[in-house]
Amino acid sequence: MSPRYSLTAHREGLARHELLISACAACGTQQFPPKAVCTRCGDTETPQWNAVTGEGHLWSYATFRKTYRTDFHLPSPYVVAVIELDEGARIYGNLVGVPMPSLRIGQRVRAEFTTDDGESHLIFVAADKEGT
Ligand SMILES: [Zn+2]
Repeated sequence: MSPRYSLTAHREGLARHELLISACAACGTQQFPPKAVCTRCGDTETPQWNAVTGEGHLWSYATFRKTYRTDFHLPSPYVVAVIELDEGARIYGNLVGVPMPSLRIGQRVRAEFTTDDGESHLIFVAADKEGT
């Protein structure tokens, strides 16, 4: 796999509890995962990685009742969400701690990091959960 498409920088950021998102080196448009061609300006240079706040809103979600991952354990059912970050990129993640009947598109969420089996994982929680 070409380093251009590598998620190594992203994973290293997670280990430091930092959310890194790829951005076009020419115009700065953030997109995740990294793309071969910038969807805004068409640039094909290797993207850069920027730290983002991890704050955003619930753009879409699905509820899963079957566990597919063996390296990260969430009680079933669980929510896989598409989060639109305030910086513009959309990213998939587990939305944790929000009762499913109260999920609503557009609600504010923020990133948190959890460790399972020694590996750091990205999750999202309701931003207003702790008064933020
Ligand atoms: Zn661009």
